[in-house]
Amino acid sequence: MRSADDVLLLIDLQYDFMPGGALAVAQGDEVVPVANRLARGFTHVVLTQDWHPAQHVSFAANHAGRAPFEMTTLPYGEQVLWPTHCVQDTHGAALHGDLDVPHARALIRKGHHANVDSYSAFLEADRTTPTGLAGYLRETGAKRVYCCGLATDYCVAWSALDARAAGFETVLIDDASRAIDLNGSLAAAWAQLEAAGVKRAQSADVLAGRV
Ligand SMILES: [Zn+2]
Repeated sequence: MRSADDVLLLIDLQYDFMPGGALAVAQGDEVVPVANRLARGFTHVVLTQDWHPAQHVSFAANHAGRAPFEMTTLPYGEQVLWPTHCVQDTHGAALHGDLDVPHARALIRKGHHANVDSYSAFLEADRTTPTGLAGYLRETGAKRVYCCGLATDYCVAWSALDARAAGFETVLIDDASRAIDLNGSLAAAWAQLEAAGVKRAQSADVLAGRV
């Protein structure tokens, strides 16, 4: 069992990102049992939940004449327009029922500001509004952050990059994550992760304490 210095950050394991969901990630459900196994080895587990108001700016349906997966420009930069997903208090926004992490210590909800998206568990997409997670981790003595979940190339990658930028050693657990891979986004994310010093690991190595 790892000390509380090591935090497992389980990202967006919600029905809308699972097969059959509104913004399904292929094989997204396969990471749930891996996340459960990993969580049993960590005393300190934090969950995130994408949690949007219905009028959220990232939804294509809220932009006349626009379709999901098109790009648009918002005051804070380029934004993918997504299918409507993870609307607050809907089934799609709920954490997967097979997720078995009763000892999780915190749950960060992100994307709750109507005009700002938030892929990262640390900083919203305007790159200035903090979620409070970095402060929480510092106050609880965390040193290392192990990130996994959905999707590798968006919320997991952005969270891992921001964990690293906040000064934590950061590991992305590859086989406990699945990607959307939109227009080369997965390769681009890995290039950024490697350049930032985020380690890439497999769950077996994390469970065995090798990473
Ligand atoms: Zn979202």
